[in-house]
Amino acid sequence: MTKRSQTKRLYIRDVAVGGGAPVIVQSMTNTDTRDTEATCAQIARLAEAGCELVRVAVPDEDAALALKRIIIHSSLPVIADIHFDHRLALMALDQGVDGLRLNPGNIGGRAEVRKVAVAAKSRGVPIRVGVNAGSLDKDLLEKYGRPSPEAMVESAQKEIALLEDADFDMIKISVKSSDVMDTVAAYRLMAQKTDYPLHLGVTETGTLISGTVKSSLGLGLLLSEGLGDTVRVSLTRDPVDEVRVAYEILRAVDLRHRGPEIISCPTCGRCEIDLFSLVEEVENRLSRVVSPIKVAVMGCVVNGPGEARSARVGVAGGRGQGVLFKEGKLVSKIPEKDLANVLVNEVNRLLEKEKLSD
Ligand code: SF4
Repeated sequence: MTKRSQTKRLYIRDVAVGGGAPVIVQSMTNTDTRDTEATCAQIARLAEAGCELVRVAVPDEDAALALKRIIIHSSLPVIADIHFDHRLALMALDQGVDGLRLNPGNIGGRAEVRKVAVAAKSRGVPIRVGVNAGSLDKDLLEKYGRPSPEAMVESAQKEIALLEDADFDMIKISVKSSDVMDTVAAYRLMAQKTDYPLHLGVTETGTLISGTVKSSLGLGLLLSEGLGDTVRVSLTRDPVDEVRVAYEILRAVDLRHRGPEIISCPTCGRCEIDLFSLVEEVENRLSRVVSPIKVAVMGCVVNGPGEARSARVGVAGGRGQGVLFKEGKLVSKIPEKDLANVLVNEVNRLLEKEKLSD
């Protein structure tokens, strides 16, 4: 496994970030924060999917005041996302928020940042300096000609200096761009200059496919170099999918393993079962499983048995039927219509048995 870069440890409510803690999965609600019922419901769904930190937008005073109710009902630490008005950060702290995210490009000057830092420190609340290439200081844009990695890092450093001047060091940093390679370069540079924990993300990546590809590439490169303490995949869709993608990225770089790993083939002219529907059904029915388990769903007997054997449970399709493998052994032939049921039941049975023997 890659050696993680050593960062300072901080806590957001009870969640350890940095300093050798596991990489934490974060997401952001896309409900109206003032609608506390909808926001709490979304947070509950995110928590069920494995999200460990949640950020909510605080665009105005009503949203800041809604935080108290959200925090009471949230099983996850809640981070308030503040732009433009430092008073909203102070209000969020008064409501008991667990973390703040400030954007150095637009939160105000030295005096405002100091006020927030003093209030956050007295409550033990960390602050993320969240630099976004799309909202950099004019000065920096003039100096660098574009929102380059160097410009983003300088922006973060300025904000960090303001916080440190106020004797504040519970800091987490992000330097996100919608350009994947700029994002990667910015984090690499940032990591050379600081040992504060890094929150990784590529921003505004788009829909499921483009967002997954950009996030996987950006986060994958950085995580495989040992960088990153928290991650957020940003997608233009239900944030629950962000959490799923984040765990798949972490699994691919061998850092966290949550839920079933489904191995399935793309199908080809040899496939004689409806593999697409079968995989989708199996994936949906196992979506609440938390324990890691490898499950193979293969189209035919060319590569199917090999993959199915190496998984804990697997099937390889034939004509209108499939063969079931369990713990590397061929167990039985199953009619196609029963494959999903049999596979899901076998997975649940195996996990139940493991739980009992723990
Ligand atoms: S496992 Fe069989 S059906 Fe699937 S891609 Fe390979 S050869 Fe084709």
